[in-house]
Amino acid sequence: MDFIRKLMVPRDKKINLAKYDPADTLGHDDDQKSKAKLDKTIKRLDDLQDLFYAVKKRALLIVLQGMDAAGKDGTIRHVMSGVSPQGCSVTSFKVPNSEESAHDFLWRIHKGVPERGMIGIFNRSHYEDVLVVRVHELVPKEIWKARYDEINRFERNLSENDITILKFFLHISKQEQKKRFDERLNDPRKKWKFSKADTAERKRWDEYVTAYEDLLSRCSTEYAPWFIIPSDHKWFRNLAISRIIVETLEEFDMHFPKSPQPS
Ligand code: AMP
Ligand code: MG
Repeated sequence: MDFIRKLMVPRDKKINLAKYDPADTLGHDDDQKSKAKLDKTIKRLDDLQDLFYAVKKRALLIVLQGMDAAGKDGTIRHVMSGVSPQGCSVTSFKVPNSEESAHDFLWRIHKGVPERGMIGIFNRSHYEDVLVVRVHELVPKEIWKARYDEINRFERNLSENDITILKFFLHISKQEQKKRFDERLNDPRKKWKFSKADTAERKRWDEYVTAYEDLLSRCSTEYAPWFIIPSDHKWFRNLAISRIIVETLEEFDMHFPKSPQPS
């Protein structure tokens, strides 16, 4: 099954998220077969990452975005569970601190971009600058509107410098978000994750959907594609994302270096 082709957003396609089912599983069932497939994919990712690290020709940047409780943290925990911590980095983007906000919006992003041989994961990203910033009108409209092109140029520049970019939008339904908020509130191990701001943001669901539709429509390019990942089912989300990463790494012509490293 070709997950890349099925879930990639084509360039310049006007996206209407209502047409994408967050509970889709592309015909897979929640059974032993899917579980075995996920386990196999995670193992394969571990092997490929080892090779990727040894070859050191490219870097892989994975961008995770989604509504609150869409599963960004869970994706990192599960999908990267087999990968050596030495070969990957995770950068989480919060409300910019004073140093970050004194710079252009891409400054802190560029600092988190992985070096060759590494897989870098962004938990939230520069796309917050056309999401929360737009929804809350943190900058004037003409400023955030210009950012789609700025982001495309930035990502093109990275891709021309040997960085492969995969961007995943974790698509959940509004009901699933409510269910996960309730779980968080009722589970002592998860309660800390809930913030009052989450309920306030949920009230702006439709505005976020519009903002997501715009960035998916404007910023999916051949050098930095977006994927819409149906994420109501966590097992399917993990399967889809790990398959896409594996399929991407498999396209590279990688071989272990024959000679030892120069001293
Ligand atoms: P969390 O991912 O739950 O730890 O929350 C991080 C918070 O930081 C979210 O509410 C984001 O919307 C917010 N955030 C991330 N980037 C920005 C940004 N550039 N401007 C304003 N808020 C941001
Ligand atoms: Mg949160």
